[in-house]
Amino acid sequence: MTPTKPAFPAPDHDHNRCTADGISHAEKVCRERAQKFTPIRRQVLSALLSSHRPLGAYEVIDELAKAMPRPAPITVYRALDFLMANGLVHRIESRNAFVACVNNHASGDLVVFLICEHCGAVGEAASAAVADQLKAAARSAGFTPKAPVIEIGGVCAHCRQHDHS
Ligand SMILES: [Zn+2]
Ligand SMILES: [Zn+2]
Ligand SMILES: [Zn+2]
Repeated sequence: MTPTKPAFPAPDHDHNRCTADGISHAEKVCRERAQKFTPIRRQVLSALLSSHRPLGAYEVIDELAKAMPRPAPITVYRALDFLMANGLVHRIESRNAFVACVNNHASGDLVVFLICEHCGAVGEAASAAVADQLKAAARSAGFTPKAPVIEIGGVCAHCRQHDHS
């Protein structure tokens, strides 16, 4: 699988483009699966697309409350569940936060989250070879793995560059 976008977009990239791409990708996925992209689902995804940093559920609510009456947490959690079930949003377990996904991966794909401890951005890397090895290791232990997720903390290329300049 070749990623269509760099894992960590440059700090001066056209972020409006990311947001627009994310929304149009979600529209396409919902259309293909005959799912409704309701206003709240769109609003929650837009809130997550506002940056490349993961947001907690309450940060999503705060973001939404800027433009509309404050939504009930259950409403936002339902929208997040829908977005996760359709591969549009990932949950970052170690941060208890959510991030919009713009890579179109199959469910069951291994996702490696690269979490920058400096700027908070989350990038994704995918490796079929690593996924196969992990599944083989799990199976040889008599274990049936679900979609594996790996979270790695560190420093992104842009922050590292900044530190050295
Ligand atoms: Zn962006
Ligand atoms: Zn993803
Ligand atoms: Zn960074």
